[in-house]
Amino acid sequence: MQVPFNDLYAQYQSIQPEIDAAIAAVIRESAFVRGRFVEQFEQDFAQAIGVDHCISCANGTDALYIAIRALGLEPGDEVITTAHTWISTAETITQAGGRVVFCDTELDSFLIDSTQIEAKITSRTRGIIPVHLYGQPADMDEILAIARKYNLWVIEDCAQAHLAEYKGQKVGTIGNAGTFSFYPGKNLGAMGDAGAIVTNNPKLAEWMALFARHGGKGNHQIEGINSRMDGLQAAILGVKLPYLKQWTEKRQAIAHHYDLELADVPGIQTPHRKGDRTHVYHLYVIKSDHRDDLKEYLSELNIQTVINYPLALPNCQAYQYLKPDHVRNSSTWFPCVTINQQEILSLPIFPEIGDLATQYVANSIDVFCQR
Ligand SMILES: *Cc1c(COP(=O)(O)O)cnc(C)c1O
Repeated sequence: MQVPFNDLYAQYQSIQPEIDAAIAAVIRESAFVRGRFVEQFEQDFAQAIGVDHCISCANGTDALYIAIRALGLEPGDEVITTAHTWISTAETITQAGGRVVFCDTELDSFLIDSTQIEAKITSRTRGIIPVHLYGQPADMDEILAIARKYNLWVIEDCAQAHLAEYKGQKVGTIGNAGTFSFYPGKNLGAMGDAGAIVTNNPKLAEWMALFARHGGKGNHQIEGINSRMDGLQAAILGVKLPYLKQWTEKRQAIAHHYDLELADVPGIQTPHRKGDRTHVYHLYVIKSDHRDDLKEYLSELNIQTVINYPLALPNCQAYQYLKPDHVRNSSTWFPCVTINQQEILSLPIFPEIGDLATQYVANSIDVFCQR
């Protein structure tokens, strides 16, 4: 048996007639850039999230960059974000003229440790970017309380958490703005790059739409950038959006199955779930002291796994400039992410995977651990 990490073709096959028709319609109308498919998707996505405004853009990285620019940074301003995320979250802070300030995570949930944020605040701090990593919402109440106390903005990086809820509220609607990626492998994936920003603030929405589209047409009001979702991606996403809820429930059922099967396997820690929020399982990440051997063993059995991510950002070459002189090794600098980067392993999870495959994955892990 072969178990791929993800199978995008299986998802396409499950809705092929609708996708093919949507693509044909875009071509027939030559609605390649902007146009009715993009406008329709912006409306539909805003409604699905329960938010007033959705601004589509080229990808999830641009979504972050546009949102940070909209909320505003002066050179030298600092933004606090998690040390355990995809680099987009941090690199866009620098691109927008800010300084990245990493915060360590909780050892078990992989989420930004909200109890460590306040100690990172200086007179230059302007914002916080929590990431709802792997599909589980960050501690939004604690983060918003800090933001209010110090007058900071909050951008939620929702790239891995479409439809996840924190205390009954959809992520992306809790901070000043929420950013989404529709990269093909995300829970809602295009057939190319795409992204969006959501907000309930009309002024912010207006500025972001203007900035993403060259500052308008004719008498350009500001200098902007060119970041747009193309019509094909919008039409494809429009077909997929109505399925997102059932696909998410499928992911949750698969995760539940893994949880049960792996609960008593020695040496394996299943994902920690916080009780007051939903987890949409973009990734199902276990921890093992023998991670590299386990990964190798599964690979020999044709089970594909991934490490998200092999090096926490503060330990990457790109961020060595942040390391103070007195810190000799990373294990004392960001201890939790440094431990976790050695133990995490993402198992195959996607709506079409099927019980046979997940059973095979769980059994194989069990056999490895009982050896
Ligand atoms: C995927 C991802 C992004 C970036 O999205 P792209 O569409 O690939 O640019 C940003 N943040 C996180 C946490 C992601 O997982």
